[in-house]
Amino acid sequence: MASVTLKNLNKIYPNGFVSVKDVSLSIGDGELVTFHGPSGCGKSTVLRMIGGLEDITSGEIYLGDSLLNDILPRDRKLAMAFQNYRLYGYLNVYENMALGLRLRNMPRNVIDTRLKTAAEFFKITDILEKKISAISESEKQRVALGRAVVCHPKVLLVDEDFAHSSEPLREEMLMDIKRINRELKITVLYVTNNYDEAITLGTKVVFMKDGEITEVK
Ligand code: ADP
Ligand code: MG
Repeated sequence: MASVTLKNLNKIYPNGFVSVKDVSLSIGDGELVTFHGPSGCGKSTVLRMIGGLEDITSGEIYLGDSLLNDILPRDRKLAMAFQNYRLYGYLNVYENMALGLRLRNMPRNVIDTRLKTAAEFFKITDILEKKISAISESEKQRVALGRAVVCHPKVLLVDEDFAHSSEPLREEMLMDIKRINRELKITVLYVTNNYDEAITLGTKVVFMKDGEITEVK
């Protein structure tokens, strides 16, 4: 089950700043949830705690029935789409997408099958052999999403800074995120300070202010 449950989640940074206050939320399997609120309200902190990039001060995070708090990020069955894509320029598209699977010691033929399926899904089959430095921004965006889904995550976490600032690329990314949610049946958590984007994309919208959830629609 790819449901996500947050129970009384708090984050206090070492300097004493309370970034997330008592956040509790239930996200159902297959939902596309957007987190919206002004810059600095704690959206990224919540996402990073779910992803395991940030320690939890107190509270609990569950994926299905399992408590994630003490599970290493790479074992959480979550994928994260990172800022600036974090692709390796000196590797080709195939190698970039295969990295996560190689880290998990997947057999070659499994990697190959998954890669080819994902490449078709994102229409990047014909650039698999190209170096990252030789492909377009649109292609890089799709490679980054492809790399996230080949690990067959139960949940995909996308922070707004993943998205490219250009409008057409942003639109394309939003379409791809919807397809990932609907066709691959992956639960998606998407953070944005753009109200229209939050409302249009999310099947559930979580509004935040000053580290707290103010409303869930
Ligand atoms: P958002 O993603 O909604 O813009 P963040 O989750 O990035 O907000 O940050 C929430 C608050 O926590 C902000 O006020 C930010 O300045 C603060 N913050 C983030 N990281 C740290 C840190 N390492 N130490 C202290 N405060 C931090
Ligand atoms: Mg942020």
